[in-house]
Amino acid sequence: MSFIPYGRQHITQADIDEVTNVLQSDFITQGPKVPEFEQAVCDFVETDYAVAVNSATSALHIACLALDFSVNDILWTSPISFVASANCALYCGGKVDFVDINTDTFNICVVELERKLKVAKLQGLLPKILVVVHLGGSSCDMQQIKKLSDEYGFAIIEDASHAIGGKYLGSYIGNCKYSDICVFSFHPVKIITTVEGGMATTNNPQLADKMRLLRSHGVTRDPQLMNKNSGPWYYEQLELGFNYRLTDIQAALGISQLNRLGEYIEKRNLLASNYRELLKHLPVSYQKVEACNLSSYHLFIIRVNSKVGANSRASVFDALRKANIGVNVHYIPIHTQPYYKEFKYLEQSFKNAEEYYDEAISLPLFPDLTHEQQAYIVDHLKSALLKAV
Ligand SMILES: *Cc1c(COP(=O)(O)O)cnc(C)c1O
Repeated sequence: MSFIPYGRQHITQADIDEVTNVLQSDFITQGPKVPEFEQAVCDFVETDYAVAVNSATSALHIACLALDFSVNDILWTSPISFVASANCALYCGGKVDFVDINTDTFNICVVELERKLKVAKLQGLLPKILVVVHLGGSSCDMQQIKKLSDEYGFAIIEDASHAIGGKYLGSYIGNCKYSDICVFSFHPVKIITTVEGGMATTNNPQLADKMRLLRSHGVTRDPQLMNKNSGPWYYEQLELGFNYRLTDIQAALGISQLNRLGEYIEKRNLLASNYRELLKHLPVSYQKVEACNLSSYHLFIIRVNSKVGANSRASVFDALRKANIGVNVHYIPIHTQPYYKEFKYLEQSFKNAEEYYDEAISLPLFPDLTHEQQAYIVDHLKSALLKAV
């Protein structure tokens, strides 16, 4: 069996044609395709505004800045995420702290969040922003989290890098019903791709304007936003912004990919349910997806019970890699990263996250994965588990 990656892009001739059309047009960046892609995402997820940028990491950064997050402000997020979910706070000179996960859903634990907020309130250390991460594409408990945000006064950014096309309570993730800003990633391993790319959605026009300014040097030509207008050449810099722009070439690919988002989600859900069927009698558990969620299934994460053997995850992982199966681990808890160890205020442990990390393995999942490949993967998993005892 040739190497099976844990995730990979799906590119069609239609995608290639759209990209080629842009290359042969007058605008290869900052043309009509970026606003068209933004509008298409707005229409799909049912939100008012969308700001396309060159990565989800950039989107998280300008989302924090738009929410006036700055020096000494505190941002909370899940320890079980990609480092970008936390780094956005450090870019702004702020601080990071973490909220432990729920053992079954692998998302932020709402009971723990409430407990931690109570303590933080007494200490005067409440967060300004909470970044929730919809791990693997399955939404956090947004209704409860929104209630707590109203009570404790923090803003909510959804890191939905995994979750475009997923639903919560019957509506698409990204509609910002329970958040200020939602961020998507279009990296090739994610659900749809623009090669590199990201987007921030919001229903708040001020946040949208601010993010639009920040993605392009803080410079505007919009007469509504400028202090004066000295002529048709004139522009003003109003903020210290960045060059975080997406190109028209990438946006064209994104529009074309978005046309197949529904198919991708359906396919990923079918593959996930096939995995659940194949794993039925094995000593592994997998992420619990609550009935209120439709997961986009960016990841299919299993937990190899560490009681099976002292080093069971490592040995199972090695055995699968030796069989050319590109298993992965999502994620190494952020607070254990060497860079984060420097922050003395973080000398806490996040027990559920650390236990999860000892057991987690992401099995390959992407639209072109075949049932034969899934059977091959689970066969090897089975024999690896037997040996791991
Ligand atoms: C991929 C990912 C990011 C970063 O996305 P980029 O588009 O590569 O910057 C951030 N958060 C999570 C949870 C991710 O999986």
